[in-house]
Amino acid sequence: MLSLTGRKNSIAQNNITAEEISEFNIFNRIVTIFLCMFFLFSVTDILNIFFPPLCPICGTFMPAGWSSVFRRGLFGWSPLLPCVNCVSLLVTPEKYICPRCGGVRKRFDFDKPDCNRCRNLIFKFRRAIVLGEYEGELRSIVLRMKTDKSGFYARTLSALLLRDRSKFLDGLFDLVVPVPIHRKRRWWRGVNSPDLIANEISRGLQIPVSLDAIKRTKETTLQFHLSDQARLQNVTGAFAINPKRMKLLKGKRILLIDDILTTGATCNEISKLLKKAGAKNITVCAIARAVGNIDNEKTPTTK
Ligand SMILES: [Zn+2]
Ligand SMILES: [Zn+2]
Repeated sequence: MLSLTGRKNSIAQNNITAEEISEFNIFNRIVTIFLCMFFLFSVTDILNIFFPPLCPICGTFMPAGWSSVFRRGLFGWSPLLPCVNCVSLLVTPEKYICPRCGGVRKRFDFDKPDCNRCRNLIFKFRRAIVLGEYEGELRSIVLRMKTDKSGFYARTLSALLLRDRSKFLDGLFDLVVPVPIHRKRRWWRGVNSPDLIANEISRGLQIPVSLDAIKRTKETTLQFHLSDQARLQNVTGAFAINPKRMKLLKGKRILLIDDILTTGATCNEISKLLKKAGAKNITVCAIARAVGNIDNEKTPTTK
């Protein structure tokens, strides 16, 4: 009797062991698959699979997020770009943007290197790169960016510049320099958005950035509502090159970063100084171009 009970127990024990082994195998396979996924994608990307990203601008579900997992690469991290609908509201197609002044131009200027707004103007910079006109959705995001200390909007808008204006940015520059704001205004806002954009562009293009190459020596009033003459007077002598950065600027192709490009008077004044300091050439890159009435707009400087 005893030996029979012992045999039954031993069979039961053997059965349990077999089940346990098969469960262990399934568990093992799940862990292996998970580990493979972990090594293939970063943790953020795995989260994106289960929780697809939302558009950083309008907050809607982005189906493109699924494919972004494969575009990002191993352990890579890139800023989240807005949805297709937001991109169409924020980015003006390239052919509508004047390559010289960054203004939106009329159809008859499409094949020309300038537009009727800037044709008779003298710029000290080579060209201007912008996402679009300072109005509508782009205006409201730029305004949010100006006080956003987290750099969230600067990151998204810079990512758009890097992607949609890559033809004019990739491999063409040696140094990124932002337009500075006066320390009083920086204290008031808590952030200088051109600094944030410059950092993002520098990272994206893999070129150095110099945040203190230019100093704002006098506090200027906002350019947008000023007349041509007042704009010129407003920025003349408002900037100086940091003597410690003179060597760094010599012979460099500089990408000058601003958030909003108005008439270009500020960028023209800084470009003049950069050229004096020995820079090879200067290109302006801004998020938006604010334009007034096309008939009233005139040269930032002709000197
Ligand atoms: Zn959106
Ligand atoms: Zn133009």
